[in-house]
Amino acid sequence: EVAVCRLSHRPGRDDRMTTHVGLTARALGADRVVFPDNATGPAETVEDITGRFGGPFDVELNASPKRLVREWPGTVAHLTMYGLPVQDVEADLRAAHAEEPLLVVVGGEKVPFEVYEHADHNVAVTNQPHSEIAGLAVVLDRLFEGRELDREWTDADRVVVPKATGKEVVEPDDGE
Ligand code: SAM
Repeated sequence: EVAVCRLSHRPGRDDRMTTHVGLTARALGADRVVFPDNATGPAETVEDITGRFGGPFDVELNASPKRLVREWPGTVAHLTMYGLPVQDVEADLRAAHAEEPLLVVVGGEKVPFEVYEHADHNVAVTNQPHSEIAGLAVVLDRLFEGRELDREWTDADRVVVPKATGKEVVEPDDGE
């Protein structure tokens, strides 16, 4: 299992970022996303997209994401520009994921030091400041070695047909 945890959320200001953490987690192969319990709007948006474009993918609200990190029964990978380069830890992340649940943690505003301490791996996608969404995308792609790009979806009520130009959306043939 791969779960993604967003540590904090400022309603209004972070709505798009938190939503995009969820959509990116879903699109790039994670099984579920956990948001702080004040992120009700982003949770509804991600659930709505899963309902339309398919799953399986779960969205959960949690009163204490920090406690989830502390009590996670597997490996915790915290994304931070201060961590070790993803290219140096990706093999360890893959090995851990093969054995036990992996929690990928991304911050928002200031990340408490205890998260750095509880993480099994503090992982940097370059040591430059950028975005939790970009960092998450790179880490998931490295973890799955690109296989997530060919993922199949179930229970979609619409499917995009890839086209060089234009847009085509159809109902799935399996009647789902
Ligand atoms: N200023 C905050 C702090 O120091 O705690 C972090 C703010 S940053 C905009 C939000 C999140 O983006 C971080 O918590 C981290 O998860 C992610 N992030 C930003 N740059 C990153 C990098 N180079 N590698 C990995 N994750 C990164």
